[in-house]
Amino acid sequence: MRKKIVAGNWKMNNDLEAGKKLALEVLEKATGNEEAQIVLGTPFIHLTTLAVSVVGQKGIEVAAQNCSDKASGAYTGEVSAEMIKSTGVNYVILGHSERREYFNETNEQLAAKLDLALANDLTPIFCCGEPLEIREADTQYDYVKKQLTESLFHLSAEDFAKISIAYEPIWAIGTGKTATSAQAQEMHAELRSHLASQFGQAAADACPILYGGSCKPSNAKEIFEGPDVDGGLIGGASLNADDFLAIVNAF
Ligand code: PEP
Repeated sequence: MRKKIVAGNWKMNNDLEAGKKLALEVLEKATGNEEAQIVLGTPFIHLTTLAVSVVGQKGIEVAAQNCSDKASGAYTGEVSAEMIKSTGVNYVILGHSERREYFNETNEQLAAKLDLALANDLTPIFCCGEPLEIREADTQYDYVKKQLTESLFHLSAEDFAKISIAYEPIWAIGTGKTATSAQAQEMHAELRSHLASQFGQAAADACPILYGGSCKPSNAKEIFEGPDVDGGLIGGASLNADDFLAIVNAF
């Protein structure tokens, strides 16, 4: 059976105190017997604190929301995969659409980030997804498959086995508008078969593909029912421990 993952993406929210409080509330309220792996995607400032106070307890993991595409050196303001790993956290979210849109991250740069994350023993959650105009033109499958081809297809089988994918249609992020469960399932199945064309069916079948985009307690169960939907990447609803855990427990 494929691993299920529900990852929160706090984005640029929560100062140090507020972030610690939220993470500890998730830890306190989690039973430890959830069907899904819990991952908290936090700003860099929280990583060290949460690595000590949360990571590994009740199976909870913490993710950075980005890493540099350079290994080290004169890149002011950047944070390397090696630095992230040194805090004690084990995950990194890469290629979120906000990073692609506002910070011009390209598929090629994301390939370099993936390589560095994997080389430093971080588990990447690789985001992909189409903007509204692509969905309206009905070219979403080719668009998202290209993102995977250009960022992932150079990976060895061994490295591919370590990654998870989050499909996040951009028109559904933070808009209150979710993809229907049928739209999510259809895209996930397309992506899995695309991954199988490069890495083989068994490897593709083992890769968790999460859905993201206005997922909340009221719609999570229906979305997660798709056989190729293996969890969620949760933005807004991850800022409230009860809502986030309700989504985790929607399986
Ligand atoms: C996200 O940013 O990854 C996301 C899915 O946001 P939201 O759940 O708020 O739509």
